[in-house]
Amino acid sequence: MTDHIEDSPIKKKNRGGQPPNSIWEDINKGEAVGSGKFATSCKYCKNTWSHSEVSKLEKHLSNHCPDAPAAVVRRYMTKVMEQQNKSKSSKKRKYSEGQSNMNDYHDSTELNEQRCTQINRALVKFFIACGIASRIVEHLFFINFIKELNARYNTPIREVLVNQLLERELAQVNFKVNSELEKETNLTLAFDG
Ligand SMILES: [Zn+2]
Repeated sequence: MTDHIEDSPIKKKNRGGQPPNSIWEDINKGEAVGSGKFATSCKYCKNTWSHSEVSKLEKHLSNHCPDAPAAVVRRYMTKVMEQQNKSKSSKKRKYSEGQSNMNDYHDSTELNEQRCTQINRALVKFFIACGIASRIVEHLFFINFIKELNARYNTPIREVLVNQLLERELAQVNFKVNSELEKETNLTLAFDG
């Protein structure tokens, strides 16, 4: 039942007539594992799942796949952010943000995906904004420093920092810029009317 293909909730803007994207362009459908469900695997990093929950697969491609091409990362980042934006405005899940803070300072517990994403974002901002050479991310002393802070966090390799993480941060920035622009357009229209 969670196996529906979610193309519909995304409001498509005119982008030169691109065909609607399906998750199955980026995810392999494997063996059927029950009524209408499939085992799945990532076309890029070969990660496998015993389910085919589209939202989880989208999250993998947007935030966690180490091998997805930049264009794919951007596409799913945009999609996931649009969905988050919607659920935020419908005020559904405020609690999840507070919850994750509970284990912020205990590195005996495994880092959850959300926390990991937060650290990655802070890392890429630091590298870009301060003009730090990307090779530093693989420097032993840098890794040691990070491990002292949180032993559970694995620093990304240089390629992941430069390709996936930077692309994700750019997608966030573009998304924010676009929604600000949209607000302004709405304001202008309101004034005109
Ligand atoms: Zn993957």
